[in-house]
Amino acid sequence: MSKIGIVGSGMGGLGLAIRSAVAGHEVTVFEANPYVGGKLAQIEKDGFRFDAGPSLFTMPHLVDELFTLGGKNPRDYFSYERLPEICRYFWEDGTRLQTNAEPAETAAAIASELGESAENVSAFLREIGENYHIISELFLDNSLHSLSTWTGSKALKGYANLHRLGLFSTMHRSHEKRFKNPKTVQLFDRYATYNGSDPYQTPATLSIIPHLEYNIGAFFPKGGIISIPRALHKLATELGVQFQLEEKVSQITTSNNTATGLVTDKGSYSFDYIASNADIRPSYEKLLTQEPAPKKLLNQPKSSSGIIFYWGMDRSFDELGVHNIFFSDDYQGEFKAIFEDKTINDDPTIYLHISSKVEKGDAPVGGENWFILMNVPANEGQDWDAVVAKMRKNVMAKLSRNLGVDIEKHLVAEDYLDPRRIEERTSSSGGALYGNASNNRFAAFLRHPNYRKAIKNLYWVGGSVHPGGGIPLCLSSAKIAAKLMSEK
Ligand code: FAD
Repeated sequence: MSKIGIVGSGMGGLGLAIRSAVAGHEVTVFEANPYVGGKLAQIEKDGFRFDAGPSLFTMPHLVDELFTLGGKNPRDYFSYERLPEICRYFWEDGTRLQTNAEPAETAAAIASELGESAENVSAFLREIGENYHIISELFLDNSLHSLSTWTGSKALKGYANLHRLGLFSTMHRSHEKRFKNPKTVQLFDRYATYNGSDPYQTPATLSIIPHLEYNIGAFFPKGGIISIPRALHKLATELGVQFQLEEKVSQITTSNNTATGLVTDKGSYSFDYIASNADIRPSYEKLLTQEPAPKKLLNQPKSSSGIIFYWGMDRSFDELGVHNIFFSDDYQGEFKAIFEDKTINDDPTIYLHISSKVEKGDAPVGGENWFILMNVPANEGQDWDAVVAKMRKNVMAKLSRNLGVDIEKHLVAEDYLDPRRIEERTSSSGGALYGNASNNRFAAFLRHPNYRKAIKNLYWVGGSVHPGGGIPLCLSSAKIAAKLMSEK
């Protein structure tokens, strides 16, 4: 049995804590906040409850797997449902589209509303599913820095299919070639934002992302997204993991290129293995100042961040679903603003999520809890107070225009997050939601690995390291790190 210290209780930290406890290790998790979950937090305001971070839950089997590994029935801890509807789309010219859990229904809707061939849409959804399996076996479930990843039978299958993985084109160009209506292109381009990237730059390989929603499903956990870290916390505690909440780590100690322990604001601890679930940049710049940092990896462009308005509304809107998108008319300009000019367009695409459509207790009777997210650049010292004020006005106008209702008259509770606040609450560099952006075809190789020979016995999990951000990939990072640790 080894002693393992983990910095941070985000999804990566929780996943690794559970896997390590199941492997028989003594595990302690240090968390700066008074709660576990990192970006999976919640906000309560005037009778409304909001999930502060993620709103879309995909690949729930990756969470279930942790309970099964721990010898428990996941349904005794948390439950979820597959949503019958995926998303409602709104364009300024009045075009409306609803996509559904059944891929054939989505294909039929895109055919009737956007004039595509239903067969082409169905074939696209099938192909991205096949590509997903090739890529996930190679890139998502393994370390890119283990020789076995590149020499096994799965790698050979990957090499044989390299031509269909879209490494040499951008997501936007491949969608443009595939579909005739620019609105269909925009709809599938949108999925680049699921890892905080730009569809006009990110490789077409990432066209696999909608597979998760359209072929596997968009899920909703009972009690909201917050129930995921809470259930994992309960499981980890039952497995013997010790949580030191409100105990911020100030240093990862090393000796002879080997991690040896942690220093916190409350004491010093020795461990056989350490794992950092903190973003790589503050991990190196604040916790590992004595070690040389991999500058090239740390200096990669960041993924987008977000401005999120949490609005309590005093009425409900039948034309809205759980997930809704109000598209900008200038999509390319929106991404240019975010990734080149580091600013925000006046007409940004708006994502509006309403958990109270499913979880009635999230809003007072008759009302709705609106979570409104806009993609924005990571924090580089922009005047966020001015940006938030301007964006609030623009969002209010766009939603009022599209819904034909003066929204402001129905707003009864209000809060917000911006990149500065996200950074403060989760230590993520610049408040980036998904670590580095994946805006070039080498991005997967420019993510920090889950283990580096330069500092032995130190592992890395979470959205800023391989394989990337988002709940499922953070859980995969924990799986890879646990495997690497067991191979030591
Ligand atoms: P994080 O959540 O980043 O947590 C890291 C933890 O480490 C924090 O709790 C922090 O306090 C702690 N920590 C850091 N430094 C220290 C230290 N020195 N000492 C002690 N503790 C420390 N993903 C999806 O799958 N679906 C979505 O719909 C989605 N939407 C999102 C919307 C928003 C607004 C945000 C913010 C994120 C969203 N994401 C979404 C992304 C997803 O939330 C993240 O990729 C994922 O939760 C990151 O997990 P992590 O393991 O990297 O840890």
